[in-house]
Amino acid sequence: MADNTAMVDGNLLIAKSLKQAGVEHMFGVVGIPVTSLANRSVALGIRFLAFHNEQSAGYAASAYGYLTGKPGVLLTVSAPGCVHGLAGVSNAGANAWPLVMISGSCDQKDFGRGDFQELDQIAAVKPFSKFSAKATDIKEIPKCVFDVLDHAVAGRPGGCYLDVPTDVLHQTVTESEADKLLADAESCRKPEVIEAVGQSEIQKAVSLLRNAQSPLIVFGKGAAYAKAEDALKKLVETTGIPFLPTPMGKGLIPDTHELAATAARSLAIGKCDVALVVGARLNWLLHFGEPPKWSKDVKFILVDISKEEIELRKPCLGLVGDAKGVVEMINKEIKDDPFCLGKTHPWVEAISKKAKENVSKMEAQLVKDVVPFNFQTPMRIIRDAILGLGSPAPILVSEGANTMDVGRSVLIQTEPRTRLDAGTWGTMGVGLGYCIAAATASPDRLVVAVEGDSGFTFSAIEVETLVRYNLPVVVIVFNNGGVYGGDRRSPEEVTGPHKSDPAPTSFVPGAKYHVVMEAFGGKGYLVGTPEELKSALTEAFSARKPAVINVTIDPFAGSESGRMQHKN
Ligand code: ADP
Ligand code: MG
Repeated sequence: MADNTAMVDGNLLIAKSLKQAGVEHMFGVVGIPVTSLANRSVALGIRFLAFHNEQSAGYAASAYGYLTGKPGVLLTVSAPGCVHGLAGVSNAGANAWPLVMISGSCDQKDFGRGDFQELDQIAAVKPFSKFSAKATDIKEIPKCVFDVLDHAVAGRPGGCYLDVPTDVLHQTVTESEADKLLADAESCRKPEVIEAVGQSEIQKAVSLLRNAQSPLIVFGKGAAYAKAEDALKKLVETTGIPFLPTPMGKGLIPDTHELAATAARSLAIGKCDVALVVGARLNWLLHFGEPPKWSKDVKFILVDISKEEIELRKPCLGLVGDAKGVVEMINKEIKDDPFCLGKTHPWVEAISKKAKENVSKMEAQLVKDVVPFNFQTPMRIIRDAILGLGSPAPILVSEGANTMDVGRSVLIQTEPRTRLDAGTWGTMGVGLGYCIAAATASPDRLVVAVEGDSGFTFSAIEVETLVRYNLPVVVIVFNNGGVYGGDRRSPEEVTGPHKSDPAPTSFVPGAKYHVVMEAFGGKGYLVGTPEELKSALTEAFSARKPAVINVTIDPFAGSESGRMQHKN
């Protein structure tokens, strides 16, 4: 029974609303005016992961949304905290991941006359968010909380924002009023109805696939988010159609599957005549679906939750809907009149032959132990150590230029949603936040980050957060002394009054990143040879405790800008 004399303030009412909506974790940085909101949430059983910087917390919340399918909740203080948090909101939007940022804001009566941390936060967030709400009175809190949470996951997921002014956080209602507000707001929530795509569209899709000479199934992180792995595997295996995952689609079907076209990517996209693309945008990552990478006559069948996405790309056939549901419908339609290309089909043979060739070429490079380390040698050792762990596979976090490029082709993904990388925006600095999100969302899995030294140092201090919560995260830093590595400037770029300054790409050579971890009581390793790296990995993987392995890489290995050289 509600106590009519006990009072509930805005902080507690937000915590109660979050709890009622099923929120289990929050990420953020506390301070005026939201400290009590964090404490109240913890008291109700929500785990609060306290960060050093809202940017990292925001990246964590975005990845948590992707991994769990529930909005990652980010809590920030007013103006500057909110602005730092925008990194997380925008990254969530770019990747189509659900996130809710809740920021305190200044007193409503003092807005416009220079209050402490004053900013029109609703306006500031607008370009980056899917939906925003401001609770201008305590009575609006439960509805606002449910609205932002529901919008974050509706349709194409994205970042949403809730603004809570200081005065509203301090307003009170009785406990019975609070209960009524919560119940009323709950009754107004409408579950999202995803309209099923028509049967005739499904038939068209199947007919296109059936009549194709060189069909391909491409899937991305939208399919991973939709948990479409079983449906996709069934489709691939019943039809014998080769598949190509995008970087974060890797693992939905194991990279080691015989129909994987990953190692024959150029051939697969260059020569396919029908491509079924599931939960992946035809953006820069897929060369806009255009020549010269794709054939000009390729027919695209796009499966996407977003109607706008399909309208933008103008595919041959668009199927709007949830990836899992749509692929299941396709499977059902095929079941009545099955077809399978078979291993001897010329297209399947060509892909398989090319993939095998490329894999053996790569292996020939990889088996050589190169010291001082290039990128390949340590990556192979890490790959083998990860494979040695078996199932459940660790979640791999990867960022950097060469480090991420080499990692994408060398490291092997065998389970769904076990790869987090720089994503649609190529965002650097996501690593530590993603590690914390992964360890929180999947407590049974080890988390292994393979990071360039630049990516790592965006948020290196969050290693303290790893230690504080004792998370099973092993961060491997490819230390080549800078962004892209050593100073690669041409003589005409090294001139002028500041020419004796280090290059804009350079960091202190031989930086002791492992000591940063040791400073907080975690485990640090400095390694420069295959034996040292193997032994550090064995120890760190079995300890399942926070560790940094600082790997010395030749500063002139790799290429400037990695794979994106032509753009820099
Ligand atoms: P990738 O980087 O792996 O290519 P993208 O982020 O470009 O992936 O594309 C993901 C796509 O998945 C987005 O267009 C998004 O609208 C879509 N999507 C998100 N959730 C779902 C879902 N449940 N079902 C189908 N598509 C989805
Ligand atoms: Mg570097």
